[in-house]
Amino acid sequence: MYLRKSILLVFVFLVPVSLFSQETKFAVHNYSAGVSKLEITTQSNAFNVVVFAGDEGCLLVDTGDLKTSADLKQKISELWKMNVKYIVNTHLHNDHMGGNGQFHPEAAIITHANVPIRLNTGLNIVQDVHENDMPDLMPENKLTLKFNGQIIEIHAVPPAHTDTDMLVYFPEAKILCVGDVFLKNCYPLVDTQGGGNVSNFTKVVKNIIESYPADVTLITGHGDDLHMQDLKNYYKMIVESTALVNDLSKANKDAQEAGVKEINEKWDQTWGQSFLSTGGWIRSVATSFSPQTKKESVIVPLYPFIKSGDMAGTLNKYKELHKTSRDRYDFGEGQLNFLGYNLLSKNRVQDAIIIFQLNQEMYPDAVNVYDSLGEAFEEAGDLNSAAMNYQKAVALGEKAQDRNIELYQKNLKRVTLKIKKSTSVK
Ligand SMILES: [Zn+2]
Ligand SMILES: [Zn+2]
Repeated sequence: MYLRKSILLVFVFLVPVSLFSQETKFAVHNYSAGVSKLEITTQSNAFNVVVFAGDEGCLLVDTGDLKTSADLKQKISELWKMNVKYIVNTHLHNDHMGGNGQFHPEAAIITHANVPIRLNTGLNIVQDVHENDMPDLMPENKLTLKFNGQIIEIHAVPPAHTDTDMLVYFPEAKILCVGDVFLKNCYPLVDTQGGGNVSNFTKVVKNIIESYPADVTLITGHGDDLHMQDLKNYYKMIVESTALVNDLSKANKDAQEAGVKEINEKWDQTWGQSFLSTGGWIRSVATSFSPQTKKESVIVPLYPFIKSGDMAGTLNKYKELHKTSRDRYDFGEGQLNFLGYNLLSKNRVQDAIIIFQLNQEMYPDAVNVYDSLGEAFEEAGDLNSAAMNYQKAVALGEKAQDRNIELYQKNLKRVTLKIKKSTSVK
């Protein structure tokens, strides 16, 4: 199981689903001074793309995902009859920069400086960004762009949702694009594998409150627009709930258990009703207080072997480093899991199996490694091996009262059904 997958699962229930159409739906919202928002809805996801149009052409904030990008391009030329000259990405997630390739290289891509680092070192899981579509411009801190007779302010912020977060401000329209740093009715979403950081959220949110006009409209990465008062409420909730979890941790209490009740009563109705539950938020905060490993991911030294397809070399290097450099590199269970999903996302299914098997060898008692391996086998069409691994995940998960047990059971059920179907066909 990979984190973003569970977020996606929540999405499925949030978005109105039509069982009969697979098509992409576009809702257009027009603001002042040439700014519009395209709300894109598919069967499984919903996200926003901002279009700023004028005499010189279009600038996009985010490009949605790869699957919808051809439709997006068509929609833009239909509605604005102009070429896209710039793309600014609020961060490196599939459903925000997956469509870049559709407009690049005619359009210049502007991203946070960490984007190419993540794309080049194997520390990304974004299958939809091709290596030809590397960013053209990366502001150190702030970039002011003159386009269509207006000024656009692009601001790279400290790692919060990911370590590639940027804000985009249109002063004339008084519109600020905040990406996934702030979503309606949602606790902060922290992608730790993507470099996100709970403790920076207060800083980043406070900075927005202090730096932009009180009547600014906030366009988010998913869902409805928000306003300064919403952001102030968000800030208050983050400050108070992190302080509460901090106090509980200091008092050596189980933050999860003691915190849930109090935080639930106070905030669940407002903030816990979309992508992240109250329990999930407390977990994020509690983990951020525990001593962080400052070690570099073992993926970085492995990546040259991975990139050239040398899997034997990858295994040898991993084992060598595990003997010699455990102080230097992070060998946690999550590292190979992340790498395996990276390979799966690039359709290197057999290589993913090799990596997940290595993880299983290193962490034979970890529940999730069996589920991940099951998923890779399922993708490879080896349903019996998939079922075997899902079974193991369910058995271990039940014993450990794993919080993802329902997902493991669901996977096992699905693959068992597939096996039944395939044998009855024969
Ligand atoms: Zn998003
Ligand atoms: Zn995101």
